[in-house]
Amino acid sequence: ALPPRIERNFPSEKPANSIRLLQWNILSQSLGEHNDNFVCCPLEALDWRTRRYRILEEIIEYNADIICLQEVDHYQFLSRALRTQGYEGIYFPKPDSPCIYIKGNNGPDGCAIFYRVNDYELIKVETRIVEVWRVQSNQVVILTMLRHKATDRQICVATTHLKARQGALLSTLRNEQGKDILDFLENNIDGADCPVIIAGDFNAEPTEPVYSTIRSDPRFGLDSAYRCDGIVQGAEDAGQEPPYTTWKVRGEGECCQTIDYVFFSRRHLGVKQVLPFPTGEQIGPNRVPSFQYPSDHFSLAVDFDLLPSSDASQ
Ligand code: NDP
Ligand code: CA
Repeated sequence: ALPPRIERNFPSEKPANSIRLLQWNILSQSLGEHNDNFVCCPLEALDWRTRRYRILEEIIEYNADIICLQEVDHYQFLSRALRTQGYEGIYFPKPDSPCIYIKGNNGPDGCAIFYRVNDYELIKVETRIVEVWRVQSNQVVILTMLRHKATDRQICVATTHLKARQGALLSTLRNEQGKDILDFLENNIDGADCPVIIAGDFNAEPTEPVYSTIRSDPRFGLDSAYRCDGIVQGAEDAGQEPPYTTWKVRGEGECCQTIDYVFFSRRHLGVKQVLPFPTGEQIGPNRVPSFQYPSDHFSLAVDFDLLPSSDASQ
């Protein structure tokens, strides 16, 4: 029998009228088994026949309204399973996913957005292969316009997975990808003064240029939800990002970084609460993935308050 999944303290009941969003790089099955070289993770913990249920448990437990996922290379499985839980989804694969070069792969990996159909109506979907200096890269973004039925307000939710790996050139590249995504948002919001959420695996620490590019863009007034939660709670480390969103051991060594974020427009949304990260002790010395947790990235979840609209006609 499998040991219990890592437990994190978050109410499955969400506050009235709030919007709950889950952000998670679920770890591609092909990459996790064949590319990542997780030297402290037993291969059996990566066996798709059991790992897929761990992924589903994690997604379903937090009971989000909107789910943003990266490294999805089993969209059919997730989509069928999540449909039974009241979700519909959109999937957009990377144009030249490294997965397709792996023997026995299940197709490319990509991004996905799911939303709860009882509470949201899908108004529009746009997808884009992210460009860098006007040339297509291997990264993608999905944008959805969702109508929150309870308030009749439209919310723009986008997700992305930026280029991985370290180095000055790559951090410049991620910054250019961030700029392209912000322009893509502007072009698809059509001047609407609506809440904006961009969640994803940005593969960038808070010190990287792309993090400030997103937070300082005057068009959207975006900030990072976990950073703001500390301020709301008056925490000792207020204004700081969490110490890690991914913690793994590869052949080249241990890697503990904050690279996943939920950015939101401050003038439309307030952070009510966030799903806390597990402690190092809970995670264990072999880090993740493990039998206790199916990805090398932890899920992020945020409850947002929809602030009163500045538009008097609404
Ligand atoms: P990225 O550099 O964005 O990374 C692809 C994946 O690798 C990500 O999901 C990333 O995970 C993961 N990753 C990050 N660091 C490491 C690491 N140290 N070891 C193993 N995996 C890691 O890739 P692109 O989409 O830009 O695609 C380019 C890559 O695809 C090339 O590097 C190449 O390896 C592969 N490729 C191979 C081809 C072939 O013929 N074999 C052809 C075309 C592409 P995370 O985001 O979680 O960090
Ligand atoms: Ca990965």
